[in-house]
Amino acid sequence: MTDSSQSPDLETMRHSCAHVMAAAIQTLWPKAQFGVGPTTENGFYYDVLVDSNITEDDLARIETAMRKIRKKKHRFVRSTVPTDDAIALMQTQDQPFKVDLLELLKNKGSTAIEKALDDDKAAAVETDASGQPTVTLYQTGDFTDLCRGPHVAHSGEIGQFKLHKLAGAYWRGDEKNPQLQRIYGLCFAEKAQLEAEIERLEQLKLRDHRRLAKILKIYHFEDEIGRGLPLWLPAGMTIRQELEYLAQRYEREDGYVNVATPHIAKASLYHKSGHLPYYKEDMYNPIELDNEDYYLRPMNCPHHHMVYRSEPRSYRDLPVRISEWGQVYRYEKSGALNGLMRVRGFCMNDAHIYCRYDQVKEEFQKVIALHARYYQLFDIEDFKMILALPDHDKANKYSDDKENWEKTATTIREAMDEMGFPYEEEEGEAAFYGPKIDFIIKSALGTEYTISTCQLDFMAPCRFSLDYRGESGEQEPVLVIHRAPLGTHERFIAFLLEHYGGNFPTWLAPCQVKIIPISDRHCEYARRVHDALFATNVQCATGGIRSETDLSNERMQKKIRNAQIEKVPYMVVIGDQEVESDTITVRLRDGSALNSIPVSAFIDRLKTEIEQRTTIETASSEGE
Ligand SMILES: [Zn+2]
Ligand SMILES: [Zn+2]
Repeated sequence: MTDSSQSPDLETMRHSCAHVMAAAIQTLWPKAQFGVGPTTENGFYYDVLVDSNITEDDLARIETAMRKIRKKKHRFVRSTVPTDDAIALMQTQDQPFKVDLLELLKNKGSTAIEKALDDDKAAAVETDASGQPTVTLYQTGDFTDLCRGPHVAHSGEIGQFKLHKLAGAYWRGDEKNPQLQRIYGLCFAEKAQLEAEIERLEQLKLRDHRRLAKILKIYHFEDEIGRGLPLWLPAGMTIRQELEYLAQRYEREDGYVNVATPHIAKASLYHKSGHLPYYKEDMYNPIELDNEDYYLRPMNCPHHHMVYRSEPRSYRDLPVRISEWGQVYRYEKSGALNGLMRVRGFCMNDAHIYCRYDQVKEEFQKVIALHARYYQLFDIEDFKMILALPDHDKANKYSDDKENWEKTATTIREAMDEMGFPYEEEEGEAAFYGPKIDFIIKSALGTEYTISTCQLDFMAPCRFSLDYRGESGEQEPVLVIHRAPLGTHERFIAFLLEHYGGNFPTWLAPCQVKIIPISDRHCEYARRVHDALFATNVQCATGGIRSETDLSNERMQKKIRNAQIEKVPYMVVIGDQEVESDTITVRLRDGSALNSIPVSAFIDRLKTEIEQRTTIETASSEGE
């Protein structure tokens, strides 16, 4: 067992290590109740419930107990027993979660259990010679677990491990169920690999958007407001405004118009759109008003369709491109909430394009090109595009309009191929109303997620009578493109925080310049510098350069350090020499400096950098 790659052996080792951790926990907390313990990409976890909470300090104790078990080289002993006997056994051992699993297994079969737990090793049901359903149990020392296997031969082969994280997890992911503690462990064949992974995780922690957002004061959650409902603080709002300003510019060039629509609508609108009843579990409960039900909107589309329908359209008017940063609300299980990545209310870079069939390919390409433009600007290189197609075997999920499915999918393939963009195809991932391209990006933390989609929709035009008067005078249905290249402010800004490690390019930085007077007698000059920056006319959301003056009593070095922690791109230090010579000394985030330069030269540099949205941030760059 010395295989060092991500081979099935490593998987087996990690899985076996999870058993050993559970066994160790049982020696320390004899009444511990166990949930499930699957492997992860760098180890494993196990969900447990003990009477006193397991703390960070306990992890070392558990590790010690695991090492003892490793030394003992207990064999993993397999036994096959009738499911009912296993239920009885787990009942006598007071393992209600295992009983729950066994009952799920008995009544619904192993696929249901895998789906419920997202774990393919939880258990499998088979039948013995007499046709009676059986399950497999594995015993390691005194610990017996319900499991499908396979395992390493004995507990001496579980490799190098470290328990590194504690979290809460509701049983079967449902907040109505008891909350267990999830203990995460790392597991590798070799010690050096384990140490490298520990180091990597340390580095990643520093980039976690939740940590950076706290330092940069981007957003705040307050219990009294509600879970998953962020309060955007001034610094976060500045980033939102710059992104909106950017989108406004780019979309204007592409012929979009802006609208503003309400956050709620009557139930009837969502019946028409198909959100009710199909999307109901993801929506907030209705608000009753004048004997009618109103819903917080989970999507902006129906509102935009109503804008399209607000006047008669002719073939000459098309395409109509309706854009809005639209606030929507979706019910996410509280266990799924994660900083800004998963929230219950968010603002989308939404737009809907209404066009004729002969225009759709070009419009689709323009949207893809817009994505490419953004990705280049933000230096996003690690992304992929997926063409999501229907799975026609799932007749209840996808409409049976095969002709339209084929036609729209072909259009997307042609559009993508002409542009030379590589993409993968996936069946069963399409929206219920049409095929789409999903954009998957990888954050600096290595997690992949869908940041945006570009969808073709041939259903909404029927449901909402979205049509136009054709050349021949007949009413014809339009095609709708749904798109949101910058996704939601919440997810995109969380991504940017991790992507840049908090070091935003100057145009996005909430505070662009920190002015640091060395002592009180330099404050007057500092104010003049601030006013000059403030008054500079810059093409950006705030219309001027964003600077703050540090008037605290701290020493200069401390002020500089604080500005560095806040990751401010430029620090302007003002002392006697600067006041006398009417210049400034500028320190950059990378440690380089511009010594004794006129304020006007600094302003020119900043103005160019912000307006061109470049990331030149070293003193020795061009022009210096
Ligand atoms: Zn196992
Ligand atoms: Zn839409």
